[in-house]
Amino acid sequence: MAKRDYYEVLGVSRDASQEEIKKAYRRLARQYHPDANPDKKEEAAEKFREITEAYAVLSDPEKRTQYDRFGHAGPEGQGFGFDFTNFDFRDLGFDFGFGDLFEAFFGGGFGGLGSTQRRRRPQRGADLEAEVELSFREAAFGAEKEVRVPRVEQCQNCGGSGAAPGTSPERCRVCNGSGQVSFSRSTPFGQFIQTRTCEHCGGTGQFIPSPCPTCRGTGNVQRVRRVTVKIPPGVDSGFRLRLRGEGEAGIRGGPPGDLYVRIRVHPDPVFQRDGDNVICEIPVSFPQAALGTEIEVPTLEGTTRIRVPEGTQSGTILRLRGKGIPNPYGHGRGDLHVRIKVVTPTKLTERQKELLREFARLSGEELREKGFFEKVRDAFM
Ligand SMILES: [Zn+2]
Ligand SMILES: [Zn+2]
Repeated sequence: MAKRDYYEVLGVSRDASQEEIKKAYRRLARQYHPDANPDKKEEAAEKFREITEAYAVLSDPEKRTQYDRFGHAGPEGQGFGFDFTNFDFRDLGFDFGFGDLFEAFFGGGFGGLGSTQRRRRPQRGADLEAEVELSFREAAFGAEKEVRVPRVEQCQNCGGSGAAPGTSPERCRVCNGSGQVSFSRSTPFGQFIQTRTCEHCGGTGQFIPSPCPTCRGTGNVQRVRRVTVKIPPGVDSGFRLRLRGEGEAGIRGGPPGDLYVRIRVHPDPVFQRDGDNVICEIPVSFPQAALGTEIEVPTLEGTTRIRVPEGTQSGTILRLRGKGIPNPYGHGRGDLHVRIKVVTPTKLTERQKELLREFARLSGEELREKGFFEKVRDAFM
């Protein structure tokens, strides 16, 4: 294929300044970057090679002079071939090197320097999640709970090797134990040795002639583990506790992941929660509320007696300091709010009704005579 004129490739005039050439190259490099051309990588690679070669020649004053005089043939008729692998993209303000670019265009590793080595490093195990259900009181005062966590563990039968007991893994014949295979590849940038993960052994470098029957040669088994979780006082639904190192085992000697335990608190028939405070509603009769009394109220720890003052209205809140929920971050304890509900008596006997009418008369109320509008008028006058 005949080479296009370098000036034409970069879209600049023959007397373009160095700055203009640099600018044109940077714009085109972004345009033909593999990330911008996911569907046309081979084509983009060819364009990228073309603009990079043009830029390498025109940005070098000596090579540019020679190109202007001799064209593509160069001074000794040997052309302007150069090594792409040493081209410094970072000098132009790009955040990628040739290795990254090569990998993005063609995948796999480049000359054994690519990501294949990264994959064989130790990896931290995955994090796991479990849920624990608590009663209202358990959430308030803390508890010890057992959760069942399915997780991957090393197979005990083969000690994690994956080979049946009495046998051992052999070195993979395809990759000779390296876990990678190399192959040469022609690209627009030249002939390169590329590496990829060995398919025969999945990158482990090992071949297992008789796999362990328990783990089927993987070296790992799925097991349900029981973990005892100490739940601190004051937690509520939606809290997550983190248990360090109780997650999935690490890979190739990496550290284990963490276990996150989500809290779910069951509603209580008596108590409601409002932050660190606890609310409970207690019914009292009309005479009790009017005359005042002492009543027994439930608390998180049992019961206690409180005084209802004379003339207490329905909805009044009586506060018991420090009888609420311990703050999960150690800031003391909330209060218990007893909400008084005055109950209107029903199913009265004739005698009781008579006494209530008598009571109303003594209070200056006329029960039958006034209609609704009169009462409203009285209330506002
Ligand atoms: Zn096994
Ligand atoms: Zn292999």
